[in-house]
Parts: sequence; C-alpha cells; structure tokens
Amino acid sequence: MQVNPQSDTSTIEDDTAFISESIIRAAEVAIGKTTNSLKRNLVPWWNDQIKESIKQKNKALKTFQSSKNMSDLIKLKQLRAKTRYLVKRSKTDSWKTFTSCLGPKADSALIWRRVGSLRGFSKNHNIHIMKDTKLCTDPDEISNQLGDFFYHNRSDENYNTTFFEKNVHMRNQNLISSINPHLDEQKKLNSPIQLIDMFRVLSKCNSLAPGPDGIPYKFIHNPPMTALNAIIRVYNKIWSSGHIPRNWKHSIIIPILKPEKNKFDTKSYRPISLLNTLAKILEKIIDYRLRRFLEKNNFLDPRQNGFRRHRSTTNSLHDIQEEIHSTLEAKQMMGLIALDISKAYDTTWRPRIVKILSNIICKGNLFNFIQNFLTDRTFQVKCNGKLSKIYSQKNGVPQGSTLSVSLFLLAINDIPLVIQPPVMCTLFADDFNIFCRGINTNRTINYLQNAITALQDWSLVSGFSFSVEKSQCTFFTNKRNVVNTTIYMNNIPIPTKNSIKILGILFDSRNTWIPHLKTIRKDSLLRMNTLKCLAHRSWGSHSSSLLQIYKALILSKLEYNSFLFIKAKATALKMIDTIHNTGLRLVTGAFRSSPIPSVLNTAGVAPLDIRRVHSSILLATRRTQNNLKVMNQINDTLKDIPFSHLDVIKNETIQTAPWLLNIPINRELSKYSKNDTAPIIYKQHLRSIISGFHDFTEIYTDGSKTENGVGAAVVIQDHVSMLRLSNFCSIYTAEATAVSFALDLIKTNHIHKAVILSDSLSTLRSIENIYNPNEISRKIQNQIYNLTHTGYSITLLWIPSHNQIQGNERADQKARQAITDAIRLNHFTLHDAKLITSIITNNIWLRAWKQGTSKLNEIKNTIHTWPSPPDFTRKMETSVNRIRIGHTSLTHQYLMKKEDPPLCASCGTPLSIKHIITECLAYETERREAGISSILSEALHPDNIRQIIIFINKSNLINSI
Ligand SMILES: [Zn+2]
Repeated sequence: MQVNPQSDTSTIEDDTAFISESIIRAAEVAIGKTTNSLKRNLVPWWNDQIKESIKQKNKALKTFQSSKNMSDLIKLKQLRAKTRYLVKRSKTDSWKTFTSCLGPKADSALIWRRVGSLRGFSKNHNIHIMKDTKLCTDPDEISNQLGDFFYHNRSDENYNTTFFEKNVHMRNQNLISSINPHLDEQKKLNSPIQLIDMFRVLSKCNSLAPGPDGIPYKFIHNPPMTALNAIIRVYNKIWSSGHIPRNWKHSIIIPILKPEKNKFDTKSYRPISLLNTLAKILEKIIDYRLRRFLEKNNFLDPRQNGFRRHRSTTNSLHDIQEEIHSTLEAKQMMGLIALDISKAYDTTWRPRIVKILSNIICKGNLFNFIQNFLTDRTFQVKCNGKLSKIYSQKNGVPQGSTLSVSLFLLAINDIPLVIQPPVMCTLFADDFNIFCRGINTNRTINYLQNAITALQDWSLVSGFSFSVEKSQCTFFTNKRNVVNTTIYMNNIPIPTKNSIKILGILFDSRNTWIPHLKTIRKDSLLRMNTLKCLAHRSWGSHSSSLLQIYKALILSKLEYNSFLFIKAKATALKMIDTIHNTGLRLVTGAFRSSPIPSVLNTAGVAPLDIRRVHSSILLATRRTQNNLKVMNQINDTLKDIPFSHLDVIKNETIQTAPWLLNIPINRELSKYSKNDTAPIIYKQHLRSIISGFHDFTEIYTDGSKTENGVGAAVVIQDHVSMLRLSNFCSIYTAEATAVSFALDLIKTNHIHKAVILSDSLSTLRSIENIYNPNEISRKIQNQIYNLTHTGYSITLLWIPSHNQIQGNERADQKARQAITDAIRLNHFTLHDAKLITSIITNNIWLRAWKQGTSKLNEIKNTIHTWPSPPDFTRKMETSVNRIRIGHTSLTHQYLMKKEDPPLCASCGTPLSIKHIITECLAYETERREAGISSILSEALHPDNIRQIIIFINKSNLINSI
C-alpha cells in the first residue's frame, strides 16, 4: 500500500495507517524484529547433576515396579533421598547467590524484579473463570465473559431510570457553544499543533509502553525528525477536521486481578486499557492545552485535589485533620461522611461533559475533538492470548487516556457547589467527603442530612449515583456519650463506624491514631518478611540495596502523610518506631541487643519523629508556595525551628499559552569552549552580537555565594543595585534573583529596550524551560511575558564569566560586596528549603546523638554514615557494624540465653569488644600483624576498616561475632 500522507484526497484513516506502518517498517530494519514466543522458564536452581539424579531415580522406579524386589526398593529409596538432598542444596546455594548479587552496582530494575518475585507477583498467569458452578477454561469464552462484564459496567442500565429517561435525548443534541471563538484565549486553544508540543510529551513518556499499533518503544525515545514532521501533519489534519481514526478509539483491555479477590470471579478483575501510541501522544498534547486553560481561568473547583499540579492527597487529608483537631479542641462534635460514587469513571454521562465544555470553550478544534473522542468507542478484552469479540463502550470516559482524567474532573466539578456552609467538603478525583462540626449535635447532624439530600438531587442531574452501602459515616467527639444517630441517603442508613478510611488514612473518632498505626504496623510487618529473606547475617545483599528496599517497601508506608499524626501520643507512635528499628537492624545486621540509636546511626537514617519534623517543614513550605494555610498542629511543632517557611517564593501559573511563548534567549557564546577561547575572542563575538542591539540598554546581572553568605547584583550603566539573600540560598537562586530584579528595574525605569547579560547558563536554561520550570524561573517567564506583551523588547544573553567583560566583572564584584553591605531579601526556592531543612533536622539528630553514652558514641561523633566498601561481602559488613556498635554474639549472647556476662578466657576480665580489639594479650600477634591501633576509635575508623577484617580473620573471631 502506497499512500502519500500529504495528499488532500487521502483519508485520515489512510494517513494514520501509513504513518504507523512506516514507523514499524523503519524500526524492523533498524532494530530487527523480535518474536514474543514464550519459553518455559527454568527454575534458577536447576542443574545437570539434579537432572541426572532424577533420571536414575525414575529408572530405579521402573525396575522396582517390574521386579517388586526388596533390594531394588532400597536402591530406589536411596536415589530418592539423594535427589531430594541435591535439590535442597542447590536451592540454598542459588538463594545465597541471588541475595548476594544485590549490591550497590546491581541494577535497581533487577532488584525490584527479584523482590517482586519474592513477594509472589508473577506476570505469567492464565485466567480461569467460574461460570454457573463450572470452571470455564476455554480461552475464547473467558475473554468474552470478561468482555460482557466490562460492557455491562458501562451500559445504560447503570443509570437511575428517572435520570436516564429525562436525559437520554441529550445524546443526539448538537450543542452550539456561545463562546466567542475570536477571544485570544480561545484562539490559542485551537491553534495548530507544533513540534514543541510533541517534544514536551515525548520527553515525559518514560513508561509509554507500545500500544496495539505495535509502535516500538525505541521510536518514542529516538524519534527521527522526518517521522515527527509527518506525524505533526497528520495530527493537524485530525485537529482541524475533528475526525479521529476509528482504530484510535479502540482499546485492548487487559484484565488485572484486584488484590485479595477471588480469581475465579469476573467481578474481581479491573480493566487496564491499551491504546494506540500515536493516539496517546496526541491526546496528551490536547489534554495539556485543556488543563492549562482550565487552571489559568480557575474553572476547576479549589476543593478538587485529584490529578492536579502542586496538589495531592495531602491537601484533602490536611483539611480533614485540621477540622477534627479543632473539633476536639473546642469540645465540639463533628460528623464526617465518606461518599462512594459507584463506577464513577464508567458512568460519567458524556453529554454532560460536552454541555459543560460548551459553556467555557468555543466551537472549534478542541471542542470537535473532544466530542469525537467521546463517541464510537470500542474495546476488546485480551486474556490467555485470546481476543474477545468487539464491544462498544457506550458510557463513561475512555479508560487509559490522560484526556479522560480532565474530562472526568469537569464532569464532577460542580459537586462541591451543592454543599452549603457550615458543611464542608474535600474532593480527590471521585473520592468525596463531607463534614460538619458544632457544639449542638442535633443541629450538626441536621446540616449533614440536608447536604445528603442535596447530593441526592445532584445525582439526578449529573447521572452519577452513590453507593450507600459502601459509604461511611463517623462522628468525632471527646464526649462520653456516643452519638447515636443515623444519617440516611435515599432512605437507606449510611453505615456508621468508629473509624473511617479516607485516601489510605484511618481516622478514628477520638483522634488517637491507634487504629491507623495498628494497620500500618500490620502491613509493614508483612513487608518485613521480604527484607528478612534478603538480610541474613552472613550471606545476603549489600546494605545499600537493603536500605533501598527498606525505604521503598516499608519506610514509605510508615511515613505516608505522617504529618497527620505528628501530635499522636508517644505510646501510640511506639508501634511504628519499633518497625523502623527492626527494619534498620536487619539492614545493618546489628546484633539483637544493640542500642537503637546506634543502629539508626549506623544505617544513617534518622528516628521517625525527627523525620516527621523534616517532612512537616517541607509540607508547610509547599502549602505556603500555593497560598494555603498551614494547620496549627504543624505550626505548633515547628515553632522552635529556626526557619520561616513563609518567605518561600510562591508558585505562579504561567500567564500565557506556553506553546506560543517565545522567550528571547541568546546562548550563542556558549558554542565556544571556555578552555579553548581567549577572552579577546569572546569579546569580539560579544561585540558583534551586541551590535545587533545598538539602541538597547545593557544590564549586567550576577550572583555570588561564599562562606559568608549569598549576594546578587544588577548593574545598569552607572547604577548598581545590590541584594543580600539568606545564607542557605544556592548560587542558582542568587543568579535568578538578579535576573528577576533586573526585570523589576526595567519596568520601574521604563527601559523599553534591554538586553540582560548573565553568566549563568543553568539559570538561562531553566528560564527557557517553559513547561516545567521551578518557581523562580516561572516568575521570570511571567515578568518577561508581561513586559513584552506591553511593548517592551527584552533579550537574555549568556556571557562567559571571568573573561574581562567589564560589566560582568563589575556585577561580580558588587554581588560579592552585597554579602556584607546590602539589605537582606528574605526569599528562597523550595530547593533551597530542602537543603536547609536537612541541615536543621540533622542538627537535631546530632544533638540527640551526642547525648548518648553507647559504645558507638565513644568512637563516632557524627550522624553521617561511615561508608561501607562496595566490594565488602555481607558477612564483612555485618561484622564491622557489630564490632563498632560493640554488641556481638560473642559478648552479648548471654543476654538472650539469660546467663552471666562472659569473661575473657585468658585474662579473666569481663569480655568486651574494646578488650578484644585493643587490650587482650591473647590477640597480641594478630593485632600486630593486622596493624591495629591501640586507640579504639582509630582502630574502628573507616580508614582502617580493612585491617579489622584481617584481624578478625586471623584471630578466627569472624564466625563468633
Ligand atoms: Zn583477654
């Protein structure tokens, strides 16, 4: 098939097929075709010896079966025992090799694959379904069974009959938007798709797996320019015609078993949709435009925290906890209802989305695209290698597309408006909670009941329906008498419980946090088993890998939104502290009796309470950046911390459409290598560039960071402005501050034509990053946009530092002078805050550490980890750790056995590590041969770590430590 993609007569269907085929063909030539044949996976412990032994055993079995002879039976039994022994030994060996290879150099994907296999996640599974008490194994029938199930989840029968009859006509309604298409914002929204849009999407597609079109992964990472141009042409054809190719609206569904569900039941499977790669890229481009438009014009309700930039579950949880805390402080009662919207994504009423859109965007490319995107969706289920028949997806947003998330947010956007004060609500995607507090219980409950009634009405307008059985209600109070009322929805009582799970957090009616801490303790203990398997004392993985696994698997669980329980009682928090200690003891291989601070110090991980302070400072900083209030419990915790999160630079939204923003940055001079270019050459090039800006004002900016502080300066001809920044600010913040200040000066002094010369390449690069800049670069971008928009001409120009460029030298010198002479400007970035927060919390930890009197304290006065050489085996690592902590099997086993402390066999003095390493005369020779210092702290210092290993090997202590 040869179709010219540029021809006007070809259909979009032809064009897209042509493009996909060309890409696949090119990839086949370049990469070579791979086949997906499944090989039977051999178990890792299999070897020839076992194979031979099994062969002999089977032969013996046959011999015995025919002869029934006693001696043949004995021979068979012997061979059986031998085979069992060989298998067992091989299994143990292979396990040891497996765990030992998890070292600092091991690829983390490999580590996780192995940890996954340990935790019982397997990719290879055949799905079988029970159908009317019979097990169905026919692959075709199973795919169709699942297909039927997913089809019904999205069918019309899920709607309330009243709603459906009243609204079904909307499906055929052709909505005309009343929005003026000539408005600037609307024009930007519908402008042609450009390469830059595509680059932004591709740069973020790390996990974009190839879809049913078979577009290879390789293409996504190294797209050839010709292919990109061809794709953009087809995209624009789709964009302007509003016609999406049919196979781009078809998805392949892979059923995934939900955790802890019956695997023979169709209801236990969740659908994962695979869509065409080219379709997904286009949808991401369009979604970005829609999202920016919605965010910039504040169309999304501020209470919606799901899938939005700078927002997370934390926002919803923070607001709920703040209310609970205030309720209990004021001795009030609060009712909290978590509402469950059944099949929210699958039953989103499509005509409603179109109607909402018609009120905010004009009839144009975007509107037509979304309308087409929501019609004629089809899917097939693929399982056990078989495809089901084709089903049409009549309702709901298409699963697996980014655009669907935004459309869902729009469809549910008016739910918070139904809630009237004093009732409040939080929303995270479809997770909706309402709450109300007051001194009078009956009145409060009345408010909540009225809110529920209003939601029932909303459900008849929106098409969403609530599942009352899955909803929950909890009353928070300190009062003795328990609230004994029930709230009803559609005349069905909402189940009332003592604790309520919201976004993974279990809130309990007295805010003790005990139920929640118990739950995370239980989950973490289960996960601890994985760690135990990998962390034997004498074989096992390198501590760096174990620490990585501990942090990802367990610590993340202990710390998920941990700011919430920052004020819980110490006795309650102890439940998770012990998990932390056990985990790190396994990581370090420390002996059971080791003091906890020593174990934590060796692992280099702070105690949980200090880590909670750390995350709370950053939480407060992030909330301030987004103009959100910080709850009293956190402010109270942070009142003694010498850091003010209030001065952080705020997050701004971009003022214009990024795909149309052009920031004039000249980095021409960076082409020349700094080492090979003489200052005079640079100056010549600079002069020729500057000559193009002859009526422009030259503005030099620079930043400086020394041990005394941080400064920035702006030089405009004879005028110098100096700024001093907080000592913890980075040089990057200083450079960017200087640029931002220069732009302020341009505005106040009406310098209509200006060229800003900066020697910081990283600052300019960050300003160039339109899609994902940090807060200060975003601020600068908005400053530039606002100036250029009102007729100013501004260019940023990179110049090399220390090249005798007069203005630059002056700015540099003034920036250094600013450190001592200028007035302080209190602002910083989130990145700066992270650095200073680490320093602050490390100091808290260090102070606590220095008060300790453990054996490790005697030799180590820092909280920084002593490095463990990558070539060290697990046994060497654990031995060194135990010796340093001073608790070993040799010296402390008596505690476990409840015996008397051991005495040195040759000296009769109490046995201790100090005695063995530095004092005991029995080890004099080994000590000398290994070159061990007579001062304990020197002997155990990281620089002498190899000598210690030699010593314990020579003195045969290594196995008893
Ligand atoms: Zn001795």
